[in-house]
Amino acid sequence: MKSITVKASKEYDVLIDTGILDNAGELIREKTGGQTAVIVTDDNVAALYAERTEKSLEKAGYRIVRYVLKHGEASKNTETFISLVNFLATEKLNRTDVVIALGGGVPGDIAGFAAASYKRGMHFVQIPTTLLAAVDSSVGGKTAVNLPTGKNLLGAFYQPDLVLCDVSLLKTLPPEIYKDGCAEIIKYGIIADSELFSETVGQVHCFNDIIYRCVKIKRDIVAEDEFEHGARKLLNFGHTVGHAIELLSNYKISHGYAVAIGMAVETRAALSMGLCDAGCLDKVLELLNLYGLPSETEFNAKELAEACLSDKKRDGGSITMVFPEKIGKCILKKIPIDEIEALIMSGLGKDT
Ligand code: NAD
Repeated sequence: MKSITVKASKEYDVLIDTGILDNAGELIREKTGGQTAVIVTDDNVAALYAERTEKSLEKAGYRIVRYVLKHGEASKNTETFISLVNFLATEKLNRTDVVIALGGGVPGDIAGFAAASYKRGMHFVQIPTTLLAAVDSSVGGKTAVNLPTGKNLLGAFYQPDLVLCDVSLLKTLPPEIYKDGCAEIIKYGIIADSELFSETVGQVHCFNDIIYRCVKIKRDIVAEDEFEHGARKLLNFGHTVGHAIELLSNYKISHGYAVAIGMAVETRAALSMGLCDAGCLDKVLELLNLYGLPSETEFNAKELAEACLSDKKRDGGSITMVFPEKIGKCILKKIPIDEIEALIMSGLGKDT
């Protein structure tokens, strides 16, 4: 078993192992106590892993209730959030009880926000079941739902008490969903770990190691800047344009795919500003291509720039964006909002 301790406003462990789901009950009991465990999951994941999770929780003496949302980003909205917190209230849950997110980033982000806000904070455990959630969204305490105007606009920083990452659960991932996680792994390589970037080639099947390395990068960044005043913004590489693409596509383009395109656009823009060289862009595009991830979008610069303006990363008259200088090192740069469209245009690599 690999273990990483995250030292943020709450200190907690991320445990990575094959088969750890079957010990979830006792591990959760040790960390959080409580009488009732609420499993928040989606319909796909429920069919695959809810019973196993419940068995383990039952053994540890928990009363169990299950809240199942419809799978997909479209569920990450205020209606689902309100329905979930009403469910917690109807089930008469207390602050000492525990909310368990079993699933990818969608159940994780909604369950975390509900755990943060219901009675001003319940215990919260993440059991990621997608590669994306394992390497990224289950760690670091960002929780949110989308508003019609933009992604993740309503949320809270709320760290979990424990993250249990059972790598064997990733075996059932459809290839497209697996690729979403690869996009975030590529992101980690570009922002902080050039070796991960080269080792990623053809080796993502070494899940334990790759997840461990990504979580360690995130752990260090979160420990330095939990509330995203500085260094944590580096984790947003590809996300300014990525979130705009998700929003414009009405969430038909998934997070990982949108971030992949966002990384390509932001790297082309970095090249046009003279921040990186052509070799850096070639490597980014090569890797995206290797994992079957897209690097181009049908949306034009004007549409993308407008969508970017509703992004959380906007700060008054500018947006802080992330650009690679070389593989393994990115920088933050404030872009005035009236320059965003031209910058995106340079990143699209075409004339419209
Ligand atoms: P998701 O939770 O919608 O999962 C994707 C699909 O995979 C769903 O259809 C789900 O049912 C299915 N699935 C999940 N686990 C499975 C398994 N083991 N086997 C088979 N199918 C499985 O999406 P995601 O890609 O995990 O996460 C994307 C979300 O995460 C976005 O909303 C994004 O904004 C968010 N995110 C949050 C953070 C954060 O720090 N909080 C970081 C990155 C992304």
